[in-house]
Amino acid sequence: MCPHCQTSTHLIKRGIYRRPSDQKKIQRFHCKKCNKGHSTQTHSFDYRQRKRHINQTVFRLFSKGSSERAIAEIIGVNKKTIARRVAPFAKCARKNLERMREETKDVSEIVFDEMESFEHTKLKPLTIPLAVEKDTRKILAFDVGVIAAKGTLAHISVKKYGKRKCQRRKVLEFLFKQIEQVAHPKCCFSSDESTHYPGVLRRHFKDAEHLQFKGRAAAVVGQGEMKKGGFDPLFSLNQTAAMIRDNIKRMARRTWCTTKRIDRLLDFLAIYAIYHNQIIEGIRRPRIFNAV
Ligand SMILES: [Zn+2]
Repeated sequence: MCPHCQTSTHLIKRGIYRRPSDQKKIQRFHCKKCNKGHSTQTHSFDYRQRKRHINQTVFRLFSKGSSERAIAEIIGVNKKTIARRVAPFAKCARKNLERMREETKDVSEIVFDEMESFEHTKLKPLTIPLAVEKDTRKILAFDVGVIAAKGTLAHISVKKYGKRKCQRRKVLEFLFKQIEQVAHPKCCFSSDESTHYPGVLRRHFKDAEHLQFKGRAAAVVGQGEMKKGGFDPLFSLNQTAAMIRDNIKRMARRTWCTTKRIDRLLDFLAIYAIYHNQIIEGIRRPRIFNAV
């Protein structure tokens, strides 16, 4: 497809070149419609990068709880070299997730919930709705939105940062829009007893079953997701949420490595999701690769 005019019919091959960084042959194309050129590399996540050999390692370290600074130190490159990979990796990851949702059909059991985190300070909390397939624990959908601070923090938060808009409804709607792509119309949903869920669920799935379970005490202080003893009906989700906290550096609780930008947090969630889903599919060394 031509990146300039989006046509895929008026393309002709126009020679190859060897890219200097790794000697790989790259096919060039010419678009007869808009008279512009592109190559097989133009859409790639490693477009115009020079240190391509570090990409797969960087991808795995991103998904294993390493900070950008730590990765730069381990690999021995400048931290900007690592920082510049987040956006293209995430763009590629989103395309892969979109492809996964197109290929996944009729999921019959889904568990969903919201994780909480914050941007920069606890006075600015975030909600992260997440949906996973119940038996495989595959990540199907997620989003990030701002919410107002609760309890004793609410007062201080308003005083310091003003009233915070609440995007809970908006992000839940978006979550279910993504779920609609993959779930069977009569899918069985499990969640906790939050009163925000039944309304949005019914709008998207009027025939679906919705099981709501009472929340339980956490097993480890500060690890809300891992529950104490006995059978946890929301295990698939809680386990996945705990893995996300463990494996995305800025999602860890009680950390000084916080997220300062919501779009960046979304980037890391997308990158982690494709890593996670590959592990679930039994791939031992997950890779970042261009979606076709
Ligand atoms: Zn064109």
